[in-house]
Amino acid sequence: MERLSDEQLGLKLRQVEENYKYIEESISQAAFKSGRQREDITFLAATKTVEPSVIDHAIGLGLKYIGENRVQELLSKYSEYDLNNAQLQFIGRLQSNKVRQVIDKVSLIQSVDSAKLALEISRRAKEHGLTMDVLVEVNIGDEENKSGVRYEMLDDLIGEIAEMECISVKGLMAIPPICETSREVCKYFEKMHKIFIDISTKKTDNVSMDILSMGMSDDYSEAIMCGANMVRVGSALFGRRNYAV
Ligand SMILES: *Cc1c(COP(=O)(O)O)cnc(C)c1O
Repeated sequence: MERLSDEQLGLKLRQVEENYKYIEESISQAAFKSGRQREDITFLAATKTVEPSVIDHAIGLGLKYIGENRVQELLSKYSEYDLNNAQLQFIGRLQSNKVRQVIDKVSLIQSVDSAKLALEISRRAKEHGLTMDVLVEVNIGDEENKSGVRYEMLDDLIGEIAEMECISVKGLMAIPPICETSREVCKYFEKMHKIFIDISTKKTDNVSMDILSMGMSDDYSEAIMCGANMVRVGSALFGRRNYAV
């Protein structure tokens, strides 16, 4: 994680303010163009590598949702997040043996892609007397070595999770393959939206399709236009990530 000097921090905070306004405006426009309102879209900031003081500044601007994708980093920053004013979610690849470390710290796990992981979430949630909301991550580009369940396995996985206690499916998440054009990426977003609608129509007990989480810094407007109601934006808000430190 970056630790900034006072001077760097001041500059960073001003950039974040500008970026925040710009993203808010872009989300509003995309929402209107797709026949919805600003309030219909959730803006989650992907906060990996970003230091807590910068994250909390964004929360001060009105940001309501933050997402981490590494357990270790989440734990090291946890005491500093302003969680009175924002919700923390888990958005990255999660190993079953790390579930117990985050189960009581996040409000949603966006990246469930196996029954094994879901079962561990269910077990740990029960221990804590809570029900964990999750999204099922779909490997929409059918890419090797990418997280997410393959489309052909999606119905079965959702069916299995629906039977588990203390875990509740609230929607879908996807990270499409890297695309050259917005037309190309929209094909994946549209495919996801169709799957989302198909599953909603089935009305399975303990499964609700409330959240369709897709779209990042380069394509969140396109994602909204294609039906996303949650976008996960990192570098467009916080600037380019510095992994080196
Ligand atoms: C980092 C990350 C994002 C945001 O990526 P940007 O391109 O920086 O907006 C979104 N989703 C997940 C799961 C991430 O890890």
